[in-house]
Amino acid sequence: MTLAGRIDNLGTEKAFAVADEALALIKSGATLYPFHIGDINLPTPENIVRAAERAIRDGKTGYCSNYGLGELRELLAEDVNAARGTAYTADNVAVQPGGKPVIGKFLLALMNPGDEVLFPNPGFPIYESLIGFYGGRPVPYGYLEGERNFVIDIGRLKRSLTPKTRLLILNDLHNPTGAEASPQELEEIAEIADRHDLAVLCDEAYFDLRYEGRSRSLTSLPGMRDRCVILFTFSKRFAMTGWRLGAAIGPRDVIDTMARLNVNDESCTNHFVQWAGVEALRGPRDGRRRLIRILKERRDRAAEILNAIRGVRCYRPDATFYLYPNVTDAMRAKGLTDYEAFRRAALEATGVSFCTRLHFGGQLPEETERYIRIAYGGIDLDRIVRGLNLLKDYLES
Ligand code: PLP
Repeated sequence: MTLAGRIDNLGTEKAFAVADEALALIKSGATLYPFHIGDINLPTPENIVRAAERAIRDGKTGYCSNYGLGELRELLAEDVNAARGTAYTADNVAVQPGGKPVIGKFLLALMNPGDEVLFPNPGFPIYESLIGFYGGRPVPYGYLEGERNFVIDIGRLKRSLTPKTRLLILNDLHNPTGAEASPQELEEIAEIADRHDLAVLCDEAYFDLRYEGRSRSLTSLPGMRDRCVILFTFSKRFAMTGWRLGAAIGPRDVIDTMARLNVNDESCTNHFVQWAGVEALRGPRDGRRRLIRILKERRDRAAEILNAIRGVRCYRPDATFYLYPNVTDAMRAKGLTDYEAFRRAALEATGVSFCTRLHFGGQLPEETERYIRIAYGGIDLDRIVRGLNLLKDYLES
C-alpha cells in the first residue's frame, strides 16, 4: 500500500521514543530513573475507581450522547466557572476522550489551509504536528528566563503576527517549563487576540495541578470567552491519564462543531468512564489532596538537588510536575554541545532518563542556552533522590 502524501506532514511525540529506549534498558537489567515521562505513577483515587466499576455493573456500557453525559457537562461547566469566574453552561461543553483530542478538533473546526497558527516552542509537540498535518502553518513563539520562572517571549510573538495569523495556542500552565502567565502577560495576550481577531486554544491541562497560589485563565479576561476554547482534562488532576477523559469548553457554535467531529471520530467518549468523571468532580477530595502532597514533596527535593549541581540552575514552579533546568554550563563542562549526545551519555553513566529541549520542538535561532526536562510525576521520592544524586556526581566528575 502507498501511504497518503499528507502523512509526510504528521509529527509525533518524540518522548515516546525515549520511553521505548528506557523500557529496553530495563529489560536488559539496568537500573533506570525515569524522569522522561509526563505521567503519574500514583493510583487514581479509590472513589473514582469504584464509580467506574459501579457504572459498568449498572449497564452504562452502551453508546451515549456525542456531547457527553448531561450530568458531566453540567459539573464541568460549574467546575470551570468556579476556578475562572466564567459563566459557561453545559451547552458550552463537549466531552472528549482525553484532553489531547481537543487540539486536533480545535484546529479542524477553526483553521483553514494556509492559516498561520502561533504555538509555544518549547511546547507540547502535538501542536506543531497537527497544525502542519491539517494544512496550516505552525509559527513558534518562545519562552525566556524571567525572575521567578519562564515568561512568554511576547516580543517574538508580536513580531510573528501577520495578516494570515488566525489562531493562537496558549499552554498555561506550561509543559515543559512549568511557567504560568502573569496577569500582565495574560492582558497582553488578550489585547493581541482582540486586535488581530484570533481564536485561542487555552490548553489548561495542568490548571488544577498546583501546590501554591491560584491558577489564572485567559478566559477570565473581558471578551476572551468568545475567543477561547479551553482544553480540560482529568488526566493530571485526578491521576487518570490512561482513562482518556477530557473536554472542550468554549463558544457554543465551536462546541457544536466539535461534537459533530466526535460523531465522526469516536461516536462518544467511553460511557462508564464519564460516570467516573462525575464522581471525580462531585465526590470527596482526599485522594486528590494526597496526590498534590506527594507531588509537592517530589518537586521540592528534585529542585533542591538540581540546584545543588554545579553548572545547573532551575526554577521551582508552583504547578505542573515538570522542572526545566538550564544545563548549559554542565554540558560545557562535559565537553558536549549536542543534546542527544548529552542525554545518552547521562543515561548510560547514571541510568537517569530525561527528555531534552529538542523533544519539545526545534531550537529557535536566538536560543543560546541549553535545557532538559525533569518530569517527577512518574518516579518515587527515594528514586528521585538517588537518581538525581547520581546525575550530580556524573556532571561534576
Ligand atoms: N496538553 C499538554 C500541554 C500536555 O502536556 C498533555 C499531556 O501530556 C495534554 C495536553 C494531553 O493530555 P491528555 O490527553 O492525557 O488529557
